[in-house]
Amino acid sequence: MSNEVLLMKPNEIEKVKSHYMKFKVNRSAPGVVFAAKLVDTTITIYKSGKVMFQGTGSAREASLWCTTPIKPATSVGKGDVLPPNFSSLSVLGSDETGTGDYFGPITVAACFVSSEQVALVKELGVKDSKMLTDDVMRKMAPDLMATLAHSVLVLKNEKYNDIQSRGWSQGKIKALMHNQALKHVLKKMGSEKPTYILIDQFAERGIYYNHIKTEKEIIRENVLFSTKAEQLHVSVAAASIIARYAFLKEMDRLTEKANTTIPKGASSKVDEIAAKIYLKHGEEFLKSITKWHFANTQKVIKLINKKRF
Ligand code: MG
Repeated sequence: MSNEVLLMKPNEIEKVKSHYMKFKVNRSAPGVVFAAKLVDTTITIYKSGKVMFQGTGSAREASLWCTTPIKPATSVGKGDVLPPNFSSLSVLGSDETGTGDYFGPITVAACFVSSEQVALVKELGVKDSKMLTDDVMRKMAPDLMATLAHSVLVLKNEKYNDIQSRGWSQGKIKALMHNQALKHVLKKMGSEKPTYILIDQFAERGIYYNHIKTEKEIIRENVLFSTKAEQLHVSVAAASIIARYAFLKEMDRLTEKANTTIPKGASSKVDEIAAKIYLKHGEEFLKSITKWHFANTQKVIKLINKKRF
């Protein structure tokens, strides 16, 4: 059994106690001042100031209280160590897309796949979205959305530019959206609970939770983080496909609005098209369909000035 031991200061220990108060259990062993039991982790606090985390979730729980996050021993990507049978468990996964595209929204999806549904979801063709084309994902997503408890959030450009200009980083925006999407799915699931929640990691756990610390409802229980999470459980792969589908739908809408095909990415080809749109429809219009703070904007303005003089 894996375990982690941290030596903590009294004020930190108080925080640990209140965090796990809901899961408190009575333990009369010598030297023990507090004990709590989660599904996969036992937390024991000793008089000496040592806090012991035991069980498959020990690394995850210990990392909540560690100033330097605990690195995994083995994993596909960076992040938490997952139980060996992880891919067959009931997992709520989340992922986002659109963060690097000059045009269009950021979309985040969360999706629950129970252990009974894992085979079916694989049957539907779900795999790492990087191995699937946009056209394939357009066809697959509606089936997944009809079959699985999910939530998908679309942050359109106007709103994105507004909060970005008020100082919100993309990291904060993403963290809030993931938390929101996970919350929605948990609500839809009612009394059913996922064994784990897996977030495709874009920030270390501490940074993620710092971004959302002022939220009323923060999803923490059994949350794991890993990069390349799409390869670790089909729930994240399905979430990724649903997020991509929502992104493509919004790109379709922008294409109609601008009356020209809106490109993905942030390349110089994207700048050229953006410049054309600027000249035809004006700055405000271009702003309303792009992530305005991207370096592309300055390049677009340069292109326009070149054309004018
Ligand atoms: Mg991702």
